[in-house]
Amino acid sequence: DMARQARRPHQCYAEGLDERHLRQLTLVRDLQGAAQNGELTLVYQPQLEMRSGHLVSVEALMRWRHPELGFIPPDEFIILAERSGLIQGMTAWMLETVCAQLAAWEAEGMPLAVAVNLSAQDINDPGLPGRIADCLARQGLSSAHLRLEITESAIMQDPEHASEQLTRLRETGLRIAVDDFGTGYSSLAQLKRLPVQELKIDKSFILRLAESPDDEIIVRSTIELAHNLGLEVVAEGVETPASRVLLEALGCDLLQGYLFSRPLPPDELLTWARTRRSCPTGAAP
Ligand code: C2E
Ligand code: MG
Ligand code: MG
Ligand code: MG
Repeated sequence: DMARQARRPHQCYAEGLDERHLRQLTLVRDLQGAAQNGELTLVYQPQLEMRSGHLVSVEALMRWRHPELGFIPPDEFIILAERSGLIQGMTAWMLETVCAQLAAWEAEGMPLAVAVNLSAQDINDPGLPGRIADCLARQGLSSAHLRLEITESAIMQDPEHASEQLTRLRETGLRIAVDDFGTGYSSLAQLKRLPVQELKIDKSFILRLAESPDDEIIVRSTIELAHNLGLEVVAEGVETPASRVLLEALGCDLLQGYLFSRPLPPDELLTWARTRRSCPTGAAP
């Protein structure tokens, strides 16, 4: 029962309720109705193919505007949703919204693939592969339209089980990426056993890439490792022309970051893509 799980923090923090805990309680309480109240939206950030510069996919990122508290960052509310058992309902809403959006873009002559973020609780949900297939089928979409991003740390909570679940998702034709790679201490052997096609290097290694020789060594060897395992590599957090140049030299396959675009609402993404298509060299802002 989602509501009962969401109320559980009251008991833990009954004594010494400080401001931070009060905020968390408020957020968990209000998150329960956020999707139905229209407070959740999705923004989409371009992922560009390095060699061609083409827009190949976008990452869907959730936004929550709380009626009183304003914009709440996902790094704050996603963790609360995971801990309170609300994330699965939010993921269901997100998948519905993404599939409807994909169909709308296709109708506008802009066929795209969307990468969605899944939490550990989502992967553990045995009903997920079927629900994803339903969502796609209802909009008349193939599985090539949807990609899954799962953080290295979510996988490493229970690597054996995650590997089984990812295999079932993979069997439905979905492409899977390990997100925030480099922050979760997975071993080479574990990585090789996972049914994944893509590594996303965490932005903490990319943001200062051109100024940090340490980061460059890490990124260089990660790309080499991934390619040797037959995986494609995405860099997130590409903010400067200098890091872009370096990533091109290192052979990174896909680039994502503020240098190209911030995450955008669907209509702005369409405008961005159309402007870019008519002026393909205008990659920098
Ligand atoms: P993530 O999946 O690693 O997403 C990438 C984050 O990096 C996004 O933050 C994006 O806005 C940010 N980013 C992209 N390019 C740049 C850049 O050039 N510079 C900087 N400084 N940041 C950049 P955001 O949107 O705040 O999301 C944070 C995290 O929240 C995501 O990290 C993901 O783990 C989680 N999240 C967001 N939406 C969802 C969702 O629908 N479901 C789940 N389970 N998690 C989500
Ligand atoms: Mg992601
Ligand atoms: Mg990431
Ligand atoms: Mg992240």
